[in-house]
Amino acid sequence: MDLVLATRNKKKIEEIKKIFSPVGAESRIYTLDDFPEMEDVVEDGDTFEANAIKKAKQIARATGMTAVADDSGLEVDALDGAPGVYSARYAGKDSDDKANNSKLLQALEDVPEDKRDAQFVCCIALASRDEIKTFMGYVKGRISTELKGMSGFGYDPLFYPEGSDRTFAEMSDTEKNAISHRSNALQKLQKYLLDKN
Ligand code: IMP
Repeated sequence: MDLVLATRNKKKIEEIKKIFSPVGAESRIYTLDDFPEMEDVVEDGDTFEANAIKKAKQIARATGMTAVADDSGLEVDALDGAPGVYSARYAGKDSDDKANNSKLLQALEDVPEDKRDAQFVCCIALASRDEIKTFMGYVKGRISTELKGMSGFGYDPLFYPEGSDRTFAEMSDTEKNAISHRSNALQKLQKYLLDKN
């Protein structure tokens, strides 16, 4: 089965391809980079699920292929779930990881270490000609008081997964992929596809 991943984010593509390789042995995996003329999907949903479904449906329709889309973000308890679906643009419309991380550190400036609980959430949507399915993934943790580590992307340097004294950005890709919200959701998709075939 050929699949198109509805993203241009290189880090996400790497992560998804690695996690997906056991299912995808005989499949070709395309990304939006293979369809440069395709317009970006506007992520205006109120939930991760709504955004992932919108992306997957639109890309499946435009390419005629089965599409896999992910929408993900960070929910911080002390901020009532923010930045949530707005994680990519927390510090403003054209904000980058650095600005988003600074804004998060600032928002949590007065929050003590034991009140900095958070979780990464990922919704993977699969859209084909005859079905649309979603798979949720989660990883719980807490937000650091300073940036730690150089790998990964987004909020990785601020996120300590539960039980770890290293942030995601201090882990190898393999270590992060073993526990991440994205791999958690993708494993559910993988199981669904393997059972189906
Ligand atoms: P999306 O591309 O709309 O799913 O935006 C997700 C945003 O959430 C990213 O830009 C990051 O800021 C954040 N995010 C999602 N997954 C991760 C992760 O695995 N590590 C760090 N940040 C993440």
